[in-house]
This record gives sequence, structure tokens and C-alpha cells, in this order.
Amino acid sequence: MSNSSPPRPEPAERWIKSHCQQCFNACGITVQVKDGKPVKIMGDVDDPTTLGHLCARGLSGVA
Ligand code: SF4
Repeated sequence: MSNSSPPRPEPAERWIKSHCQQCFNACGITVQVKDGKPVKIMGDVDDPTTLGHLCARGLSGVA
């Protein structure tokens, strides 16, 4: 009997944290990923500088 468990399937939808790289401010973002592709960007409310706010450029990072 093996102790290794089978690999978990990748969830179809998830949110990951990252940083916007469209200017030097590098605002915190959360990215909605569906089937391995980014589909939506929102501000990261845990970012102490932006408090979840993004400019229009940052919000339109995924079209
Ligand atoms: S959200 Fe706007 S201000 Fe923030 S890093 Fe992106 S482009 Fe710059």
C-alpha cells in the first residue's frame, strides 16, 4: 500500500493574488482564473496602499 495520495484535480475557477505591472505603482491585484486562463482582475483589498482600488488601466488588464 502506498502513502502517496492521487494528485488533486485543478479547480476550474480560482482567484490568485499578484501585482499589476502596467506602471511603477505595482498595485496589488486578484486575478480570476478559469480553466487556466485569466478572465478578470480586481484590486486586492489586502494591499495596504491601494486598499483594493485600481485605476482603469489596471482594471482593463484582461480583455
Ligand atoms: S492599477 Fe493602475 S496605477 Fe496600479 S499599477 Fe496598474 S496601471 Fe499602475
